[in-house]
Amino acid sequence: MTKRVLTVVGARPQFIKAAAVSRAFGRVQGLNEVMVHTGQHFDAGMSDIFFDELEIPKPAHNLDIHGGSHGEMTGRMLAGLEHVMQDERADLVLIYGDTNSTLAAALAAAKLNIPVAHVEAGLRSFNRAMPEEINRVVADHVSSLLFCPTIAAVDNLSNEGITSGVHNVGDVMFDSTLFAIEKAKQHSDILQTLALTPGSYALATIHRAENTDSADHLSAVLDWLKAEAGRRPVVWPLHPRTRAAADRFGLDFDGILLCDPVGYLDMNRLLSGATDVFTDSGGLQKEAYFHRKPCVTLRDETEWVETVQNGWNRLWQNPDYLPRKDIAEYGDGRAADRIVAEIDRYLA
Ligand code: UDP
Repeated sequence: MTKRVLTVVGARPQFIKAAAVSRAFGRVQGLNEVMVHTGQHFDAGMSDIFFDELEIPKPAHNLDIHGGSHGEMTGRMLAGLEHVMQDERADLVLIYGDTNSTLAAALAAAKLNIPVAHVEAGLRSFNRAMPEEINRVVADHVSSLLFCPTIAAVDNLSNEGITSGVHNVGDVMFDSTLFAIEKAKQHSDILQTLALTPGSYALATIHRAENTDSADHLSAVLDWLKAEAGRRPVVWPLHPRTRAAADRFGLDFDGILLCDPVGYLDMNRLLSGATDVFTDSGGLQKEAYFHRKPCVTLRDETEWVETVQNGWNRLWQNPDYLPRKDIAEYGDGRAADRIVAEIDRYLA
């Protein structure tokens, strides 16, 4: 009998990860994926473009929930997702990463006794002030299948007593990067649009609450990036949250080459031509490595410890990189197939 897997996505990094797994669902019989978009990221540049470029099936449901406080947003999603899970008679709920959409879907499914599968399980910053950390910890503790991208993630789960249902499958974002790199060769003209020469610019993204919620933090980040922009152009596709924060605090971006958020093909084209990457995004730290570009993480900790241990990434207060080595454990670009195979086995 065909089993129904309800995939819940809501934010940009989740569209990117779900794209690879959706394609893998298309390669097996007996599993029917129903895609639900919570609406957390909702506009053309933060949502629609990823569905188009990455060939993600159009969501069967869009809850159109965004804005408000964390609790309010999560609560509305929880109520909305509960109805969808019941109406769709989901056999399993598939969630990604660490956003409010992840948390709401995990709780809604757990309360309905529907098994939860979590992609990117076991990541930890050990900083509970980060909203993402709370979301990850709760999601992992109610999940039956935990798909870890790294050995460090498996160890983190084990330290919290979670050993059953844990699968180290590699990083599904690597699958998506490989797909996008190929497609970007044909479809991205971002370098011409921004008048950039490959090898002559650095790429920056900043959007985390810890950097945007405080004027002091954002000002320190801007000063650091402006100093870098004195050495070569720094291109920054600006997240709406960061733009709003800078406006609120009266901070400027002088000397930095800003653009609107870009799609995943343009992002991969920008990465392939960059000299360095400066970011507070989890995804970008790994993508920098996938493109073999050195990264500086503008945070005080990182979940992606292997990027630092292997010399491709450093935290901004540490001046030096460790000696540089390849990172084997992000996998071979087939993480999505492993995830779908394990879900199939679990539901059989
Ligand atoms: N990204 C993108 N366009 C942009 C900025 C980021 O496609 O303008 C991609 C980026 O390559 C990465 C993902 O979005 O794959 C990261 O999302 P975000 O920084 O929002 O979240 P995080 O990785 O911190 O969870």
